[in-house]
Parts: sequence; C-alpha cells; structure tokens
Amino acid sequence: MRSVEDEDVCRVCGYTDGSQFFEDTWPTHIICDCCGWESGTQALGLEGTREYRGLWLGQGAEWFSRGARPKDRDVLEQVRNIPAHSR
Ligand SMILES: [Zn+2]
Repeated sequence: MRSVEDEDVCRVCGYTDGSQFFEDTWPTHIICDCCGWESGTQALGLEGTREYRGLWLGQGAEWFSRGARPKDRDVLEQVRNIPAHSR
C-alpha cells in the first residue's frame, strides 16, 4: 500500500512523472524534469519552496529538461497539483 508520506508530485511546480520525490518522508534527491528542483537539496522548507517557485515562474516557467516536456502541457493545470502543504 502506498504510504501517505510518499510524494510523487513536485512541491514546487506540481509536475509528476511517477517518480517519488519523497519516500516515507525522506527526500530521494531526484531532480524535477519541469522546474529543476531537487528534493532534499533545495528549498526544503515552505518558505524556500515558495521562493524557488517564484523564481521559476518569474523566469517564464521554463522546462528544465526540454525532452521531457509533454506537448499538451498546461502550466496552470499543473500547478494545481502542488500538494496543499507546499502552496
Ligand atoms: Zn518541479
């Protein structure tokens, strides 16, 4: 069963490709293909997360890994997925 402490949605941008950013509350240090955020390394606290998101949006919400960008990407739809605790 999936633990409630697992997170497969990026706290910064709401993107998910099924990778776990946190497993059992521990950061996995994967890098988000969308915003470039690395879980456990950058912006762990809520303030830091918001700051990182602000920078990312301020730079035009550029895709970090261009090859991974879905054709039908809708950034507003995506940011709605940001976990409530990280908004
Ligand atoms: Zn992200």
